[in-house]
Amino acid sequence: MRIILLGPPGAGKGTQAKLLKDNFKLSHISTGDLLRKAVADNMTIGKTVKGYMDKGDLVPDSLVVELLKEKLASKDTNGGFILDGFPRNVSQAEILDKAFKEKNLNIDYVIYLKADEPVIIQRLSGRRVCSKCQANFHVTNMPPKKKGICDNCGSSLYQRTDDQEEAIRNRLKVYLKETASLIGYYLNQKKLVEMDANFEAPVVFDKLKNVLSNSTKISLPGAFKERA
Ligand code: AMP
Repeated sequence: MRIILLGPPGAGKGTQAKLLKDNFKLSHISTGDLLRKAVADNMTIGKTVKGYMDKGDLVPDSLVVELLKEKLASKDTNGGFILDGFPRNVSQAEILDKAFKEKNLNIDYVIYLKADEPVIIQRLSGRRVCSKCQANFHVTNMPPKKKGICDNCGSSLYQRTDDQEEAIRNRLKVYLKETASLIGYYLNQKKLVEMDANFEAPVVFDKLKNVLSNSTKISLPGAFKERA
C-alpha cells in the first residue's frame, strides 16, 4: 500500500503516519525528518535548507526531491510506504507522478487530514521533541512523565524553531498558498479521502483504519468523506 498524507501543519500527519507504519508494516517517509537529519548531520544540503525550515518556508524542490529519491530507492520501501510532508506543491506532485509512472507504481490513497486553525496552533505551539530519538510529546495533550525529559530515552526535549508562533503563522500561509491546491489535484485523480482530524490521534486513527480496510475492495468514487 502506498499512501500520501496531506494536510496543514499540525493536522497530525506525523502521528498518523507512525500509527500506520506500525499497524500496516509500512515504511514512514517524512521529508521534514529527512531534512532535519541532513541539518543535524551537518550535510552540505543541511546548511542550505536550515534557513528555509526555521522560517517555515518550503525548501527548494530540487533539494527535497534529491533526498526523497534516495529514500525511495532503498529496499525498506518495497513493502509499501506512507509519504508524510511530500508533495507540498503541484510541481512536486507532478515529479512524483512521473517517477511512479516510470516504475509502473501507483499511489493507492491520498488521505487529506483536515483540522481547524485553533486546533493546529494549540498542537504545534505545545509540541516538544526529543533531541535524541525524535519522539514527540505535547505539554498538555501528551506530557512526558518528567517535564522536559523524553519517556523513551531520557534525553532532553526541545521546541522546534518552526513551532514558534511567527513560524507557525508563516507555515499556515505557505500551506494555503502552495499546498492546499493539491486537494484539487488528487480529487481529479479520484484518490482523495477527506478525514476530520480535529479529534485526538487514536480516534482519527480508528476512522482511518476503517477507511483503509473498507475501501480496499471498491474503486474510489472520487473524493469521499469518512463516515462519522
Ligand atoms: P514538516 O516536518 O513536514 O512540518 O516539515 C518541516 C519543514 O521542512 C517545512 O516547513 C519545510 O521547510 C521543509 N519541508 C518538508 N517537506 C518539504 C517539501 N516536500 N518541500 C519543501 N519543503 C519541505
